[in-house]
Amino acid sequence: MFGFRQWRRRRILARHAIDEATWQRVTSRLGFVARLNDDERVRLRELAILFIHAKQISAAGGLQLNEEMKLGIAVQACILVLELGIDYYDDWVEVIVYPDEFLPRREVRNEEGLIETDPLAYAGQAWLRGPVILSWADVEHAGERHGMNVVLHEFAHKLDMLNGTANGFPPLHTGMDRQSWSQVFTRAYQDLCRRVRSGEQTEIDTYATESPGEFFAVVSEAFFEMPDIVKAVYPQVYAQLAQFYRQDPASRESPREWRVK
Ligand SMILES: [Zn+2]
Repeated sequence: MFGFRQWRRRRILARHAIDEATWQRVTSRLGFVARLNDDERVRLRELAILFIHAKQISAAGGLQLNEEMKLGIAVQACILVLELGIDYYDDWVEVIVYPDEFLPRREVRNEEGLIETDPLAYAGQAWLRGPVILSWADVEHAGERHGMNVVLHEFAHKLDMLNGTANGFPPLHTGMDRQSWSQVFTRAYQDLCRRVRSGEQTEIDTYATESPGEFFAVVSEAFFEMPDIVKAVYPQVYAQLAQFYRQDPASRESPREWRVK
């Protein structure tokens, strides 16, 4: 459908083009961009422009946030919705970036059931219908270790939250089977928990064992950062994610310098 919305988007894209040198600088260290074909790369770039335009990306804690940093965040956020569309990020507007890990002043229930201030420092957070909060120090090192990527992680939570809390069950597309999703993810989650408990080294980051919601976010990161490994370790999870994201990153050619050693 070519409506007003479409027309506005075309206009935004025409007015806010990103020059090639900037694009190269920002994406050169992102392995998942290097795997894309030309058509996908063009569409990712367009989505990133629309994202920057639609969202309010602001700095906190004394961070100086420049356009390239915003673009870096936008590109990573948009790889998740490359085949879903920017509308998947419609129900919220704010991205807040701290220089480093941050201490959110929020209250949590402790083990005795009492309310206390959350004592943990975070690399990222995603709030239901609220902001995504990121630590720039962690954004900068995204993808360097075990397929970990804080931006992909938090935005995967955002997709999961489209139908309520982040519980590892995002809204599935027509034709996807809720029961298969549930079975596949439960089995893999339990398997990873068991392996971690028995002290096994795991390819998937152990933070995934925190909850089914974290499992979905962590395997989503890995799906884009090290798809071959996810496909080898949990092929059925990989297949479900491929259906959900409508992408098959393991089938994309892996440029030499990005091959997992
Ligand atoms: Zn998380």
